[in-house]
Amino acid sequence: MLKNGRQTSPGSVTENAPQTFTGNRALMLDEPLIFEIAGPKTTGVDLMDVPQVETRLGGLERNREIGLPGLAEPEVVRHYTRLSRMNYAIDMGIFPLGSCTMKHNPRLNEKLARLPGFADIHPLQPAQSVQGALELIDELATWLKKLCGMPEVSMSPKAGAHGELCGMLAIRAAHEARGEARKVVLVPESAHGTNPATAAFCGYEVDAIPATPEGRVDLAALKAKLGPDVAGVMITNPNTCGLFEPELAEISEAVHQAGGYVYCDGANFNAIVGKVRPGDLGIDAMHINLHKTFSTPHGGGGPGSGPVVFSEALAPYAPLPFVRKAGDMLELVEEEQARTGSHSDSFGRMVAFHGQMGMFVRALSYMKSHGADGLRQVAEDAVLNANYILRRLEGELTAPFAASGPCMHEALFSDEWLEDTGITTLDLAKAMIDEGYHPMTMYFPLVVHGAMLIEPTETESKAGLDRFIETILALAGAAKAGDVERFKEAPFYAPLRRLDETAAARKPILTWTEPDLAEAAE
Ligand SMILES: *Cc1c(COP(=O)(O)O)cnc(C)c1O
Repeated sequence: MLKNGRQTSPGSVTENAPQTFTGNRALMLDEPLIFEIAGPKTTGVDLMDVPQVETRLGGLERNREIGLPGLAEPEVVRHYTRLSRMNYAIDMGIFPLGSCTMKHNPRLNEKLARLPGFADIHPLQPAQSVQGALELIDELATWLKKLCGMPEVSMSPKAGAHGELCGMLAIRAAHEARGEARKVVLVPESAHGTNPATAAFCGYEVDAIPATPEGRVDLAALKAKLGPDVAGVMITNPNTCGLFEPELAEISEAVHQAGGYVYCDGANFNAIVGKVRPGDLGIDAMHINLHKTFSTPHGGGGPGSGPVVFSEALAPYAPLPFVRKAGDMLELVEEEQARTGSHSDSFGRMVAFHGQMGMFVRALSYMKSHGADGLRQVAEDAVLNANYILRRLEGELTAPFAASGPCMHEALFSDEWLEDTGITTLDLAKAMIDEGYHPMTMYFPLVVHGAMLIEPTETESKAGLDRFIETILALAGAAKAGDVERFKEAPFYAPLRRLDETAAARKPILTWTEPDLAEAAE
């Protein structure tokens, strides 16, 4: 049993417990799909005066069912509330997903984002009626440029991967402007999967750069690959092993000398914000995940925000639109006007409008409530927390790069310590669910076997980290003692047991078919 004061031990809860009639477990309710609890005639809204509605719609009315579930308001509220109770969230506990930077979302940011002047405006409103919003975008842009030491930023990309696309399109435009059609982009082995995917999406061939035994980019191997066909490199710093790339400035110099550009994946900026300015390392373009570093919410597919900072060399190719001062007013510069200004060779637009306003408000709120010194402290605490985990677990787990010094914001372990136990990284993750923890990132990065990548972020307390560490140590003890069933059969206590992950990925069922129709079809 763990030293956290709880008096239950796994097993005692269900040993003599009856099977419930409902399939529910106390407050954990078994919830069908929304279509299964819906009725075609039910609606959450009662429009009493139907004839008047018909006139208001000019006689237009629906002539067939639209296939949406019909439920009353309380049924909808209960359905989603029940589902939310089966979910794990940063508001419930540590979310140690490496590379994802799942930190607390301060409620002050939420309050500000809901102010009507930010929440209720429309992107097609005249610029003079949204001066405050434009000012906020401009101020956030100034913070990002200052923190990165870079002269230009594009605010419109909607996530990290979208930012990568933005940066690589600018790099391609810069080469095209010089009349060059370079074909290859170099990407380290340890890169986030989005990096090679982005390069390929832009029509480049991807060539992998090997890692050194210390988990860094192999500088000599990179230099050997540079040549007139190389458009640039995409390097993550800190990298996905949670390590700083100390030779990045030298890498940039070599790439520039060979006529290429340096794209930096800045999703892990959390670890270095306020400490290192990417511009000083010779980077030409880098995305910043506001939804990671600057605490705006993420998960479940969004909404994110991935502004991209640019060097002097790439700034003319940055996308539209952008905010510019025009006398006392701020304006949003669109296509035609731009050709003469700072974005003279802009590659065009990334999105219909100018980015994620709600995320901009939250990110600036976060920056202003911390201040420059506070942001530096954020990076220091994130790194301290990760190193605390690394050092307390390295004796029991295998930490492949721990000997080469401290890590940055995340601690990486391999599955070597599980050798001969019959237990895998996946089994350990499932057992963590039983203990009430969201698992860490698994099997990524690919450079270590059975990877376990743990990122605590700065918002976990020491007591919280200790509880998490004790849990992992207890599980490690059980694994080494041969308690295989506890892992192979896990999760025992989740709403659903072990799922068929291969079938989920290979044969996803993404639409709902009414059961009796499906039967008729057979
Ligand atoms: C999260 C992440 C990305 C992608 O960001 P999204 O906002 O999810 O598109 C890219 N690279 C790294 C290193 C990341 O951690």
